[in-house]
Amino acid sequence: MNLLEVKELKTVFKTGSGAVPAVNRVSFSVHAGETLAIVGESGCGKSVTSLSIMRLVAAPGEIAGGEVRFEDKDLLKLSAKEMRNYRGNEISMIFQEPMTSLNPVFTIGNQIGEVLRRHEGLSKQEARRRSIDMLERVGIPGAARVIGQFPHQLSGGMRQRVMIAIALACRPKLLIADEPTTALDVTIQAQILDLIGTLSREENTGVILITHDLGVVAEMADRVAVMYAGEIVEEANVYELFEHPGHPYTIGLMGSLPKMTEQKERLHSIPGTVPNLLDMPAGCPFHPRCPYAADVCLRIKPELEQKKEGHLVRCHRAEEVAL
Ligand code: SF4
Ligand code: MG
Repeated sequence: MNLLEVKELKTVFKTGSGAVPAVNRVSFSVHAGETLAIVGESGCGKSVTSLSIMRLVAAPGEIAGGEVRFEDKDLLKLSAKEMRNYRGNEISMIFQEPMTSLNPVFTIGNQIGEVLRRHEGLSKQEARRRSIDMLERVGIPGAARVIGQFPHQLSGGMRQRVMIAIALACRPKLLIADEPTTALDVTIQAQILDLIGTLSREENTGVILITHDLGVVAEMADRVAVMYAGEIVEEANVYELFEHPGHPYTIGLMGSLPKMTEQKERLHSIPGTVPNLLDMPAGCPFHPRCPYAADVCLRIKPELEQKKEGHLVRCHRAEEVAL
């Protein structure tokens, strides 16, 4: 059964020149224990999608339609209070820049311990032991000392790791991780991704991993959705996507896969830029950058279609260009 099912989600930003669809009728699902990676360049709608699921889109952004079904509930229909109960309990998220912050007047140990006691009814002593364990697992040295410290005594990177420990300590059913490790050094990155993988396997946690790092995708994801200009342009399981990408945009991202010798692992640039959502090109939004663009692409917008079992592509020429 699907843990999460997003259907026709639409999130717009209201501007003086009209409502801009930052997320345009996006649908996907995540099973328990599955990791779905959402990839694309910045500005393609990945983060707005994750914020929409959590109902944390800030004005002038607004969810304009669709469903976000978590287990049997449409999260978009819950009251604000009901939604708060889901956040940080059933659904946790970790962001590159933490959206919430640590409480300055409580020690680190208090703040993680509180989550553990609330979720698992642990005694103070057990909560302390588990807090130390969680901090060690996110790569915090001297965890036994750190639990007695206050947030201001830690560096920014350490505070972020504490936030990650808190997000994982509640054993969410769904974890949304939006570029969670980009700001951290490589060793800690690997350690945290590892921890997310372990959590997913051991606790059957569904994970939505938002990233522009194809190395991370290859390592972590079961399935991948590629977004461009607010829409999903391709979706497939990770092997299929890497072996037989069917959308020119995906192929462009793959073409930029780093050589083993290169340090950089980011998706590099495909010539041109993400279109201005206020001034979208007619036909296929990717056509100004697409090396395969034909006449039809300038006139008719392609639909997301199933090309093979479980492999969806939004391109008029997918059969011809597919690798
Ligand atoms: Fe390129 Fe045409 Fe496919 Fe769009 S529909 S990605 S322009 S080939
Ligand atoms: Mg982002």
